[in-house]
Amino acid sequence: MAAVKDMWKAGGGIEMLPSEDTVDLAKRHLVQPWPTAGEIGAETRSLIGSGDGIYITDGDGKRLIDGPAGMWCVNVGHRREELARVMYDQAMQLSYNTPWYTMNEPSAVLAERIAGHAPGDLSHVFFTTGGSSAVESALRFMQFYNNVRGRTEKKLILSRGGAYHGSTYLSASLNGRPRDRDWMDGADELIVKLSSPDPFRRLAGMSVAAFCDRLVAEFAETVKRIGADRIGAFVGEPVQASGGVIVPPEGYLRRIRKICRDNDILFIADEVVTAFGRLGHVFASGDVFGIDPDIITFAKGVTSGYFPLGGMIVSERLLEDLRRSNHPTAMYAHGLTYTSHPVGCAVALANLDLLENGVLAHAREVTPYFQAQLKTLEELPLVGEVRGVGLMACVECVADRDSKDPLELDRNVGQRIDAHCHDLGLLVRPLINMCVMSPPLTITREQIDDMVGILREGISRTMDDLR
Ligand code: PLP
Repeated sequence: MAAVKDMWKAGGGIEMLPSEDTVDLAKRHLVQPWPTAGEIGAETRSLIGSGDGIYITDGDGKRLIDGPAGMWCVNVGHRREELARVMYDQAMQLSYNTPWYTMNEPSAVLAERIAGHAPGDLSHVFFTTGGSSAVESALRFMQFYNNVRGRTEKKLILSRGGAYHGSTYLSASLNGRPRDRDWMDGADELIVKLSSPDPFRRLAGMSVAAFCDRLVAEFAETVKRIGADRIGAFVGEPVQASGGVIVPPEGYLRRIRKICRDNDILFIADEVVTAFGRLGHVFASGDVFGIDPDIITFAKGVTSGYFPLGGMIVSERLLEDLRRSNHPTAMYAHGLTYTSHPVGCAVALANLDLLENGVLAHAREVTPYFQAQLKTLEELPLVGEVRGVGLMACVECVADRDSKDPLELDRNVGQRIDAHCHDLGLLVRPLINMCVMSPPLTITREQIDDMVGILREGISRTMDDLR
């Protein structure tokens, strides 16, 4: 294998190594995310070499539909020259500034534009490096807010089963999927877990409306039992994404919002996945679910994954409470070296231009077709439910439709579907017995047909495997 240093070209950039060599380098030197102990630092993962529109090309030169849009993030599609140029131009203009003592124009303009799309009185943005740091910032803000108000006991955080909020210590402590917590410690003394609002998993014979009442009652009873004076925040994804695209029952979010408001509990909507177009709007909280959170966290789609950027947008009321305290020394001692990064904010502005000038409208236009076509997969006996909203959906496989039991299935069913689909030209995001689909928002009807056709064949082949 040629030494890597020999592969660098004089003008910068790297020539593509043969795929096996790259995989070998990674095995020897790269720790990949979510490795098992038995494979850590030695995992083999398939290589992605390039991307264009809704497609990516793997290390063997095979073109695949990017079913998950990276990780729910490449919203305007791959290889957008206008985004690449903006990053280049901004880096040539100002590649970095110290956010402690100085500021830059792209971040101020972006904050103003984001605030313009936000519901309620959300007015100010704090930029981070991604989703985990956005959630972490929001939680630390809640702690600070209550400390300044003298409510130092009001710090517990309500989260739910099926949730995913990140990989930093506090954000990860909120996670509700068992595999995220089974082997990892967390700030459990700060977290109270509630049920996932997953209608598919409601008790047999229970209506969705009754299920919703039960969830709301559980929330209200928990607040009563623990005491509102000890609970600082509720953190929830409007649609639980990594939990399997869990769309809550109608009215659930509005009712939870009201309980939070009545009890001075901050409602933090984690829109890391749902913001910036996934549901056809910049923010889903107001435009799709009719709620006005105290804080919204976002990341991913804000730059369509072209640059690691996230943030939280905070209510004017909370900021005003802090200003009114006029506390001389209390400091929100929180900031990241890359807060308000000028290159990230510049590319986010260009990305927002694309969203506002056609991509959001396109996403809204193709959404019914996307959902309807995927829904046809419920004809397959292995499929228990296809659910979704906007351009995000989940195909949940079950051993048996009546019992909805996923456990008797070969637990790698998602991975089997993924492997077949990879052969057929589609990247799937497998989650145990589920496959989630969240393609770039630019996907056309014809491409949706291709995607669903491949998925159908991948599931059929999996059914043959399991016979
Ligand atoms: N919140 C939600 C809802 C997410 O889905 C994710 C990541 O998938 C995060 C937070 C964490 O974001 P990041 O991986 O950018 O830190």
